Amino acid sequence: MSIEFRDDDEFVDPGVSCLRCDAVCCRLTVVVMPEDVVPRHLVERGVNGLDVMARGEDGWCIAVDHTTMSCGIYSQRPEICRKFAMGSAYCREERETYRQQTLKGIPLTLR
Ligand code: SF4
Repeated sequence: MSIEFRDDDEFVDPGVSCLRCDAVCCRLTVVVMPEDVVPRHLVERGVNGLDVMARGEDGWCIAVDHTTMSCGIYSQRPEICRKFAMGSAYCREERETYRQQTLKGIPLTLR
């Protein structure tokens, strides 16, 4: 297995793939910046006053396509989503948290 590094020298695990994931990163709070071109009906005001991607009752971003568990507005997704690196430490941490919660039957928490 090869080791990959991104521009910022962060280790990226090449064994991690969005194709084998339940889009767990799409449960995180996604701040929408003014320059993002996200359809406005998918945006809500967060508790801290910032615009964020709205979420469904299941906790996932409202833009998730649940048939494919992928982004339903991929070409219009916010910049913060574009920067989230598949296989990065943050990605791996979220996947592990989700796996543990699923194994224990713990209700999913929102962040
Ligand atoms: S906008 Fe797309 S990539 Fe970003 S959290 Fe929502 S579904 Fe995921």
